[in-house]
Amino acid sequence: MVNYKLFGGTNPATAASTDSVAVIGLGRFGQSIALELMANGTDVLGIDSSEEIIQRLNGQLTHAVTADATNQEVLQQLSIPEFDRVVVAIGDNIEASILVTSLLLRFNVPQIWTKAVNEQHGLILEQLGVEHVVYPEKDMGTRVAHLLRGSMEDYIDVGADFAVVKTPVPQEITGSSLSDLKIMTRYGIMIIAVKRESSPWVYTTPETVLEKTDIVLASGPIRKVEKFSQTQ
Ligand code: ATP
Repeated sequence: MVNYKLFGGTNPATAASTDSVAVIGLGRFGQSIALELMANGTDVLGIDSSEEIIQRLNGQLTHAVTADATNQEVLQQLSIPEFDRVVVAIGDNIEASILVTSLLLRFNVPQIWTKAVNEQHGLILEQLGVEHVVYPEKDMGTRVAHLLRGSMEDYIDVGADFAVVKTPVPQEITGSSLSDLKIMTRYGIMIIAVKRESSPWVYTTPETVLEKTDIVLASGPIRKVEKFSQTQ
């Protein structure tokens, strides 16, 4: 018996391929992952228990299926055990998120990415053995807090107290070469790339001389890159 309802596309049971991802739960987070993957050429099997959401996404994903993903038989009918990468983007219903994730672990899906809505949810997922537990709200909050503290245009925390930031260049380091300015000794960071108005990003060299309107990518310990971005 078939326990799912398919909109558009071909038989989803043939959907698993090397460059395909299954996204379970198509709320705002799941949808943005699914649509971004599609925009970059990756096939997506999207599953949601809401028929309305699936109908709205009709034609935008390779396969869109209305189904309850907590049902093991449904996941098997949809070939989920054959996928290399599956995202569980169910948040509010923590029980469903844990149930679906544990089925994926049982199927030995190599890469499972599960959204956690709070610390306890994340802890359970980690204890189950999920390698990629993502905290979209928490991560975005942390990121915005760091953006607010400096004049950074972008901020990526790469873990272990290290970050890469995109920031306007402090005026005090324009007009001389990076080696003459001894950036590492002065700020404890490295400037790795520079973008000059209508030009593309280029790597910096010791000879690079920065200009007032340049934007740079700087990397280093969080406090130090923050301080660098606050320097005028
Ligand atoms: P977002 O912040 O991403 O919008 P949300 O927290 O508001 O997410 P959730 O309740 O986490 O929304 O659910 C995300 C999606 O997962 C919803 O569209 C919901 O219909 C779907 N979903 C919930 N339970 C199941 C399930 N058992 N099987 C399939 N889809 C499910």
